[in-house]
Amino acid sequence: MNKILIVEDEEAIADLEKDYLELSGFEVEVANDGEIGLEKALGEDYNLIILDLMLPGIDGFEICRRVRDEKNTPIIMISAKKDDIDKIRGLGLGADDYMTKPFSPSELVARVKAHLARYERLIGSTIEENEIIEIRGLKIDTTARRVWVNGEEKSFTTKEFDLLTFLAGHPNHVYTKDQLFSEIWDMESIGDIATVTVHIKKIREKIEFDTSKPQYIETIWGVGYRFKV
Ligand code: CA
Repeated sequence: MNKILIVEDEEAIADLEKDYLELSGFEVEVANDGEIGLEKALGEDYNLIILDLMLPGIDGFEICRRVRDEKNTPIIMISAKKDDIDKIRGLGLGADDYMTKPFSPSELVARVKAHLARYERLIGSTIEENEIIEIRGLKIDTTARRVWVNGEEKSFTTKEFDLLTFLAGHPNHVYTKDQLFSEIWDMESIGDIATVTVHIKKIREKIEFDTSKPQYIETIWGVGYRFKV
């Protein structure tokens, strides 16, 4: 659940903001002065901060600056004076949005939602992506260990998956059955190069349109196999 911090010394306003945000499904904490607000903003993890400008103790300018030094949490600044908004903008404190009192609580909620969505997109784009091998109609997600053939997901045993991924990861490279066996199976395992042949057959049945004319894994007679791109 998204957690929001409201830093606001006017309790009636803080309560109103809290009520509207809670009704929209947010978890809300309120700090009624600047010092507590700063301490909470720096010490805890919030998804967004609603920050009043004029506060006893440390004011909103200072809190915004100090939070920005350490965190990217979206900040909506609230001011009683329109002039202050220009001042905040001019200072380049890094607030994400500004609202002037009095404002409609539902507009505040709408802006909160918009900023959270934008921030999530930003964070989402920095998440490490899965490693994907895509060759014609074959898609292998090597991170999630999933395989699709022409958009249809196919299930593979562990060794089939390892063998397919190894070959697809080294396209146009011919491997002997011995090389593939030692690459995929550890030496202690029971089996021999015939195991490789059996696995190749099973993989082909899942990925090839016509197993007699394989378009992915080619047999190089007398040598081994090659993944064709
Ligand atoms: Ca105030």
